[in-house]
Amino acid sequence: MKNTGHPADSWYIATADTTAWPALEGAHHTDVCIIGGGYTGLGAAIELSHQGLHVTVLDSAGIGSGASGRNGGQIHTGQRVDPEKLESLLGADQARQLWDMSEDAKASLHALIREQNIDCDLKHGLVHAWHKPGYAADDRAYIDFVARYGYDKLSLLDKAQVAAELGTDVYYGGSFDAGGGHLHPLKLAQGMARVAATHGAQIFENSHVTRYRRIAKGIHLHLENGATVTCQRLLICGNGYMEGLSEEIDSHVMPINNFILTTEPLDDPAILPHDHAAADSRFVVNYWRKTPDNRLLFGGGENYVPWFPKDIKTFVRRNMLKVYPQLADIEISHGWGGTLAITMSRAPFVRQLAPNVWTSAGYSGQGVVLAPYFGKLLARAVTGNDHDIKLLSQLPTPAFLGGRALRWPALVAGLSYYALRDRL
Ligand SMILES: Cc1cc2nc3c(=O)[nH]c(=O)nc-3n(C[C@H](O)[C@H](O)[C@H](O)COP(=O)(O)OP(=O)(O)OC[C@H]3O[C@@H](n4cnc5c(N)ncnc54)[C@H](O)[C@@H]3O)c2cc1C
Repeated sequence: MKNTGHPADSWYIATADTTAWPALEGAHHTDVCIIGGGYTGLGAAIELSHQGLHVTVLDSAGIGSGASGRNGGQIHTGQRVDPEKLESLLGADQARQLWDMSEDAKASLHALIREQNIDCDLKHGLVHAWHKPGYAADDRAYIDFVARYGYDKLSLLDKAQVAAELGTDVYYGGSFDAGGGHLHPLKLAQGMARVAATHGAQIFENSHVTRYRRIAKGIHLHLENGATVTCQRLLICGNGYMEGLSEEIDSHVMPINNFILTTEPLDDPAILPHDHAAADSRFVVNYWRKTPDNRLLFGGGENYVPWFPKDIKTFVRRNMLKVYPQLADIEISHGWGGTLAITMSRAPFVRQLAPNVWTSAGYSGQGVVLAPYFGKLLARAVTGNDHDIKLLSQLPTPAFLGGRALRWPALVAGLSYYALRDRL
């Protein structure tokens, strides 16, 4: 395991109340065991505990210490794979179901935050900015396509409108999604854990699962500290932080690292005057927004090796200055990284791996909305309704070239090529 635990230099850690949960000790029995205390595991835990099942969540480090407490907090619309591509892969009906699912996921996230009073700084609106003029045609086609599904929250912006929205004139135009937005990701994860615990879920931190196996009476898990769990059903929700628990997951889902900084509070009112989130059209996407204490939170830059750059602030600042050269003198207050999971096709890897064992992972950078909901869908499968999980299982997610052993070199070569194209 690498880069585990809450990152010390994260603005999120500095601004969220985190609850400490105990480590699991001894022999424990439960109906459903969930490996991973991020959005996927917690979404499942809320649903299952609400239905009265005995649920146990185990996290190697802490609640939200994975991608869920480190991410950009951007609320995106749709699945990660665009709907036109999904239609060509699965046909019109199933692509439409996947679109409806993504909108239901957004509504479900908003309802959870509202009904459970999760204070996570939720804001609405997201600008998508084109770093090359050629992206205009793609965005127009997307807006027209999803209008067929009745989605009318997208509008085109010309160059001047984007400049006024963002406070920079480096982009050629873009679009505005009134259905997008942003939030404080760690406050969301912590809030979800409290909701699950209120419903009766048992939550354990510093509880790293090293292996599981089937036994006559269910499934038996071993933890690093010698504790054990026996359960009837198992949900594996370790996403990019997991390795070695399941060869099938490891060969289909690849961890990559992405990095974020925050500045000292801004004194330039032209930057994001409407408090919207922003993201650009680069393959290695830049994404940013303001925090409630008026800092710029800017994500930009990734790497494809099992470690982080030594100086994350400098690594991300280079990208920030390409968008906001006027911030050359501002101090950088925090810089941190996180590990997300991608798949070859960028569609999520959702599977029943074996009788009574399910997984969902590989949201490919779009898990703030989808992961809590896919956790909920795993929970439905546990209680006998696997309709949506079966649909998601049909999404093609081929194994990485070279399988588990050789996937890193092939990935680095492939992704580095596209990252290079951003710079041309
Ligand atoms: C820097 C960054 C920026 C991002 N920005 C955005 C964004 O703006 N918008 C968006 O939609 N998505 C974004 N994402 C992606 C999003 O954060 C993820 O898709 C989402 O959080 C995945 O949630 P998860 O619960 O599946 O995984 P995680 O949150 O990673 O949780 C997995 C958990 O499993 C635990 N675990 C792993 N193995 C074991 C084990 N063996 N035993 C016990 N516990 C284990 C880990 O400790 C971890 O806490 C970003 C990700 C990163 C890293």
